[in-house]
Amino acid sequence: MTPPPALIIENGTIILPDRLIEKASLICEGGRITALGKRVKRPLDAQIIDARGSYISPGFIDIHVHGGAGADFMDGSAEAVRTALKAHARHGTTSIFPTTTTGSPEQITAMLSTCREVRDSWEPEQGARIAGVHVYGPYFAEDKVGCHSQSGRREPSAEEYAAWFRDDLVRIATCAAELPGALDFYRAAKKKRCLITCGHSNANWAEMAQAFRAGMRHVDHFWCAMSSVVSLRNRFGTPMQASMEQFVLATADMSTEVIADGLHLSPELLDFAFRMKGAARLCLVTDSNRALDMPPGRYRFGSAKDGSWFESDGLVGRSGGSLASAIVGMDHMMRHMHRSTSAALPESVRMASLTPAERTGIASQTGSLEIGKRADVLVLSKRLEVKRTIIGGVEVVC
Ligand SMILES: [Zn+2]
Ligand SMILES: [Zn+2]
Repeated sequence: MTPPPALIIENGTIILPDRLIEKASLICEGGRITALGKRVKRPLDAQIIDARGSYISPGFIDIHVHGGAGADFMDGSAEAVRTALKAHARHGTTSIFPTTTTGSPEQITAMLSTCREVRDSWEPEQGARIAGVHVYGPYFAEDKVGCHSQSGRREPSAEEYAAWFRDDLVRIATCAAELPGALDFYRAAKKKRCLITCGHSNANWAEMAQAFRAGMRHVDHFWCAMSSVVSLRNRFGTPMQASMEQFVLATADMSTEVIADGLHLSPELLDFAFRMKGAARLCLVTDSNRALDMPPGRYRFGSAKDGSWFESDGLVGRSGGSLASAIVGMDHMMRHMHRSTSAALPESVRMASLTPAERTGIASQTGSLEIGKRADVLVLSKRLEVKRTIIGGVEVVC
């Protein structure tokens, strides 16, 4: 691939992880950021983008996402994967971790191989770059399966996950901490330097502490499909016990993520998570499914063949009286977080870019606007809508 031509984005407000720089420019050469600030030397023959006073932001990074535009990463075809990558680039995501649901062993294997195939032949025009796969389902607790298909849930099997970990495709690994074999799963994921997470779990403090010692450092979608003091009283009786919530809030090295679509969590819960964990330990995720950018209707969550059904009302997914994951993009999550909590704009963007990059080990390559990093850049309007998406120095037209 020939390196993309030089690009200069000028007359914008640059969003850094800790501050804004007004009336600034950013230069990309050879697909990387080579200069930024108020006074930069223009390369010759550069394509010029006038930001007209709007924002220049790092591209977003989504560590928990199931699909979009009618496609789910579990559909098992490269075409479905590419459809979802393009949809998320429209919403400002430049690095993505396609996320498994529960499913048969064959479906999980097919998801991994289609993501590997798309990643290996990827070019920026195709949309968000696959930074790795998030193995999420199938190792969920039976009582916390949520909207995933119950038949695709199971307990960890070393034989099964050894095949997933045979190369470096899987970068995020989820398992409920209380399942038999969970600690061995965490140790195997730690050897591959994955971000290890506990999700869809009814674990107590003791199980979380053991998991932490085995390498677990993150909890999926805070307050959704996780244990609480009350759910543990139902599991163990009294005395009441501390849950995943207390463990995450009390442990500095633990990070978590929120679905900030405005429908899963109220503004005070979003603000509480931000104030307790801080922008360096809280990620924004979309957790969005195939109904993103699709009309309201009935859709399958997970595989198009046998995933569980849910209804999209055009705002969120719903099934059986509870929510069934989000249907909006990362731009929406970042805007809502900024407008409805005490998080300043640099912090709100950090939670959608640098923090997920740091937690997954890709921060030396991407996640912030910094000289030497990949030119994964967005131009956002003053109302924080995505105007342009640039991936590796190439503008993506979606
Ligand atoms: Zn979930
Ligand atoms: Zn999910």
